[in-house]
Amino acid sequence: MTLRAALLAGLMLCSAALSQRTPQELAGALQAAARAGNAAAYRALLAPEGTFTVEGANFAADLARRVPRDVTYTFSDVQQQGARAEATLTLVWTRVPGEVRRVTLPVELLRVGEVWRYAGEAFTPLKAGAGRLLALKVPGLAQRADWLAPLLPRASREVERVLGLSVPQGAVVKVYPDAERLSATVYPSLQPVSGWNEPGEAIKLVVPGGSPAEAQASALRLLTHEFTHLAVGLAAGSGGDKRIPWWLHEGLANLAARAFVAESGWRAWQVRANAYARAGWVPLAELADFPAVPEARWDNAYRQGLGVVEFLSDEQGGDAPWRFAQAFAQSGDRDRAARAVGFASFAALETAARAWLAAR
Ligand SMILES: [Zn+2]
Repeated sequence: MTLRAALLAGLMLCSAALSQRTPQELAGALQAAARAGNAAAYRALLAPEGTFTVEGANFAADLARRVPRDVTYTFSDVQQQGARAEATLTLVWTRVPGEVRRVTLPVELLRVGEVWRYAGEAFTPLKAGAGRLLALKVPGLAQRADWLAPLLPRASREVERVLGLSVPQGAVVKVYPDAERLSATVYPSLQPVSGWNEPGEAIKLVVPGGSPAEAQASALRLLTHEFTHLAVGLAAGSGGDKRIPWWLHEGLANLAARAFVAESGWRAWQVRANAYARAGWVPLAELADFPAVPEARWDNAYRQGLGVVEFLSDEQGGDAPWRFAQAFAQSGDRDRAARAVGFASFAALETAARAWLAAR
């Protein structure tokens, strides 16, 4: 950006920030910033508080990575009470060519001085033994989600039991009715997912359906998986988390959740990992950076990741997967990480893991 362009952008930011005197003007400003892929302008429209501060910044970063050129922002049913308002946000955008998404979310707006800012989704707090459980404020969800509360401490204990990592007591868990709405709050380019966690963000999950037993197992699997991401991120320290390859994050999270995966499901995952080892293996180095991994390779990241973690656990001991991740977090050097678990190099580790899986 040239100096002149920077000055102009600065002027535009100021004039934009002065024009959100109504919620409708705020919707227009959010839409303009999103369509321009202008992360800084988008962040300037967000309310400066809560875990949403981190989530909003990650959402804004995605706008710059994959610009949603046709996105529309509409606030309806605006209910204002003093400096706060609740509204329904309708987002419509083309996620990938040919796939138009339309999502409505209950949201909060905050007036700072004369200017309205966007404060993210509106939630109903639920009672939870450990951590804070919040349900998206849509009719009936709080009642449909309150059985999740006692599962939070159970999922935390499982992460501690399998990986020896502790989950912070105050972890915030946000519950959504479906994957479409959950993903729309993470960022617009994300395909619908049933669980999510990024360092510093709340955990997000979709309230599972099925029979009571199935729903409970799904919830424990999702919670244990996402709690693992949280615990690994904290134990790795700031900066360290991003040095751990994405496939390894997913391998650890699925390993920790094993007790809550049906034997047939677990076996199906193993079969896919074994098949990739024989044909269609994607080099692990190409699965390390989540935003750079195409959706068509997500399955490789999850299955190969779990396969390598199982290999390490089986061959080098149950603590090897976390020791490996820890070495990554400390140095970011994959050869040093491989040496920490007894291999001459990362290439040697990958070759051995692949051979082990191909023969499994
Ligand atoms: Zn995950």
